[in-house]
Amino acid sequence: MRKVLITKLLVIWVVFLILILGLTIFFIRKSVLEPAKDKAITIAEVVKNTLTTLMVTNSINKRQIFLEQIRVMENVEEIRVIRAETVTRQYGKGIYSEEPKHPIEKEVLASGVPKEELIESFKRVTYRVVIPYKAEPIPGVNCMKCHNVKPGEVLGAISITMDLTHYRNFGFLIASGFGLITLVLGFLTLGFVIRNLKDVHNFLNEIERVFSSFEKGKFSSKMNLANLKGEFYNLGERVNKVVESLDNTLKRIREKVYELIGYSLMETDNEIRDTEKIIDELVRISHFKKTIELDSSKEEVYKRIESVLTDYMSLDKFSIYEVKDDNTIEKVLVRGKNLWCSEVIFENADECRAKRTGQDVDSEEFRCICPNFAMCDEEIENYCYYCIPINIGDKVGNVVQIVYEREIREFVKLLIPYIKGYLSEASPVLESKRLMEQLKKQSYIDRLTGAFNRRFLEDIVDKLVAQAHRKNANIGILMIDVDFFKQVNDTYGHDAGDAVLKQIADTIKKTIRKSDYLIRYGGEEFMVLLTDVKEGYSEHVAEKIRQKIEETPIILPTGIPIKKTVSIGVSEFPKDCKRKFWQCVKFADVALYRAKEEGRNKVVRFKREMWDKEEY
Ligand code: GH3
Ligand code: MG
Ligand code: MG
Repeated sequence: MRKVLITKLLVIWVVFLILILGLTIFFIRKSVLEPAKDKAITIAEVVKNTLTTLMVTNSINKRQIFLEQIRVMENVEEIRVIRAETVTRQYGKGIYSEEPKHPIEKEVLASGVPKEELIESFKRVTYRVVIPYKAEPIPGVNCMKCHNVKPGEVLGAISITMDLTHYRNFGFLIASGFGLITLVLGFLTLGFVIRNLKDVHNFLNEIERVFSSFEKGKFSSKMNLANLKGEFYNLGERVNKVVESLDNTLKRIREKVYELIGYSLMETDNEIRDTEKIIDELVRISHFKKTIELDSSKEEVYKRIESVLTDYMSLDKFSIYEVKDDNTIEKVLVRGKNLWCSEVIFENADECRAKRTGQDVDSEEFRCICPNFAMCDEEIENYCYYCIPINIGDKVGNVVQIVYEREIREFVKLLIPYIKGYLSEASPVLESKRLMEQLKKQSYIDRLTGAFNRRFLEDIVDKLVAQAHRKNANIGILMIDVDFFKQVNDTYGHDAGDAVLKQIADTIKKTIRKSDYLIRYGGEEFMVLLTDVKEGYSEHVAEKIRQKIEETPIILPTGIPIKKTVSIGVSEFPKDCKRKFWQCVKFADVALYRAKEEGRNKVVRFKREMWDKEEY
């Protein structure tokens, strides 16, 4: 760019120089030669008039003296008086007159028009002017008196040749001087411009470098001030300050965002794109946080985590585990396979390495770092895993396990910080959801027996009924009442009565499945809901309970063992009562009443004939 500029400047400058010199020569030549020409013309006119005067005064024979005087005048090289042919014919050749010698002399004699010529060579410059001498009426002079010619006819001519070499040389000297000054000034100007051009060039180069970095989103590159001077240096300094402050601002934005989201993201050398990305991430995380805060249960939060892992991160194999208060693990969500871990972790949460250590478990460190990764022995070559514990309060409350093929391990490595970012947002929300759940659970639990209370039954009944319909399942309803319970109170006291209730509840809990519900229905009356029971099978369960209670000794607070029996009424929903759950409860109660009537320590299955009243 600089070369092009300098070449352009040089061309302009040379053209300018030629123009200036040309004009100078033209004007100097004009101003030097024109006066010289005028002088020649004046002399010619003077000669012509003087000769006329000499002729009129009959002193023409003295003309040679006059002409000699003219000849010695400065720069006059030649002066000739030429006779026209008509005059020669009348008076002869004459002593002093001359024949036309130069072509223009002949032309003037022929045309009667004055002519001039400039004869220029390298060595010298001569100027010749030829003025005609015509038979013209001059006041007081009658040419025709002496000359046998017609009026206006050419009688002769005066030819004067002047040497103008001196003038020309003088003009050339001035032009050369002027040219030299122009040349020197021109060179100085050009030098100055080129010097400044170097500064402009350096500055532009630096600006171009810095801006091409900007285009790539890089703001750490600055202008190199070492090659800049003066104003360009100041300008460069200002550019650098702006760049530095922009760079710092972008860095600060990133740092603050990292602080805010709790982890840093992968950075490229494009700061603009990185900043854009982290702002996007911030928006996404804050959106995620807001959404899960509004979710009504932890299950919904797990679903959100699932959708982040699948939709946003394109992961298709993972599990979310929940660590229970009794140190067991429940799988909340498993994608890609039914189970990625061996069953032992569900019985004892400490079998899960991430839960036990509270640290990330990365199969990249050791292939079988966790022996309970179910595929540890078989396909471990192809599968890797990364388990992240989520702290709920001061304990590990959840474990998120990512399983991935070995080929995408670099990709997953990049994702881990993002996943951890989302999980750390989810952690307090999960904690509060678990707390809420616990509080709710406590309000559903009967303090004495640990069974659910009636409020719980009222709250879950709709869900339970809907579930049964959906699954086309049968719910067994057992109404259990302790036989002659009043006697315990009366004989051993109220505390003994409480102990009996607690131990009977424990025995029932041990006899039923985890998915069944034990509800303390009233004072010494319990209800058991057998979820998803085979039709007609409820009676067997009731019988099992009755027997178990009958044979299990109850230890009173005083240490005395006693035995108690229960009577149980059984009904099945929806078989006995179609869609009316509470009617089924009533039917179980009717059956219980019948069991009492029939002598207690008995299971009675509700039968239609036991109820002759209208629908409940
Ligand atoms: P039946 O075989 O007919 O059921 O006789 P029962 O004595 O068990 O029946 P009844 O309804 O006459 O007596 C129930 C008693 O249970 C009355 C009440 O004082 C007692 N009871 C109810 N709730 C509690 C409790 O929480 N603790 C104790 N200790 N006793 C309770
Ligand atoms: Mg009773
Ligand atoms: Mg009772």
